[in-house]
Amino acid sequence: MKMIYYILVALTLGIVLSSGCIQQEKGSTIVPNTTIVPNITKPLTSNDEIKVLPEQTNSAQQPPSSRIDYSHEYPASSANVNGFEMKKTGSGFVVYYHPGDETNANKVLAILEQGGLNLYKKYLGFEPKDIPVYLAMSVDEYVKIADFPGGKENVAVGDGSAPNGKIYLYKPFGENIPGKTGGVIIHEGVHAAAYQYFGQDKMRYLPGFLNEGMAHYLEYIFKAGPKFDPLDQIYHSDLLIDGIETGSPKLLSLEELAQKCDGYINDETLNFLCRGQGTYTVWYINENYGEGAMGKFLTNLKQTQNWQEALSNVTGKTTSQSGQEIQDRLKLMVEQKKR
Ligand SMILES: [Zn+2]
Repeated sequence: MKMIYYILVALTLGIVLSSGCIQQEKGSTIVPNTTIVPNITKPLTSNDEIKVLPEQTNSAQQPPSSRIDYSHEYPASSANVNGFEMKKTGSGFVVYYHPGDETNANKVLAILEQGGLNLYKKYLGFEPKDIPVYLAMSVDEYVKIADFPGGKENVAVGDGSAPNGKIYLYKPFGENIPGKTGGVIIHEGVHAAAYQYFGQDKMRYLPGFLNEGMAHYLEYIFKAGPKFDPLDQIYHSDLLIDGIETGSPKLLSLEELAQKCDGYINDETLNFLCRGQGTYTVWYINENYGEGAMGKFLTNLKQTQNWQEALSNVTGKTTSQSGQEIQDRLKLMVEQKKR
């Protein structure tokens, strides 16, 4: 009897120790890679389940922002573009900056090349090439070169914008809000990448609320990981919750969002609704139709030049059916949150 007990103890210890080893070894050998995602539809042997799934799940859910290697040095060279004297070149982006701003330029490029490129490829289905990024050191310079429609009084340190496929940043990493610049860079990168993908003439077929939605969606994945809680992360999601609970502000249908959310929006509530509902819509599409769904939608949109048709091709439903489902799901989430 005692013998059996010892054997059992030894076996249990062996399992615990060896599984600890497996975890550690994987932790140190697996290179962080956003493309490794557990594929739950693929049948796994029980062996696969024990060895592979837990570690991959953890690594896939880590926010990409935590994996940027800022010590990687991108070479600098001289430039003469829009009054910028220096540049650092990656594969997807070229950062233009003034002398003295080299550390920031290197950080900006690290975020775009190491974080942005993977995210854009995985969630949008395309990789940008040679997109210019300009680092403005004063608010006057920023408003002027970015042709920012909101004017100086609406610019804060760490802000950015991406008109016509170019990215402009105002004093990146100078802000007091932790992580702001990183999110802004990934966000503006989405706008610039989408502009490059569609081109100037076809860009208008992408509704503003989906353009903003994709940009915020990837911004939150970058900061909080792919399983972020929309009611927690979405900027001013309290408005969405109020809309569901009290009917004010009234949430917009997908058609209304497409009509009202375009260009620079001065009305604050409408602006937050466009961004909030836009992000939540993109989140919902990814949750329900898989992480390649937005990429399929964008490919479809480029061909059909009709966002409703492109969305239906991905979801198999009409826009109003999808709109209703999206609001129903939001209602359920708000109710669950209250419990
Ligand atoms: Zn935006």
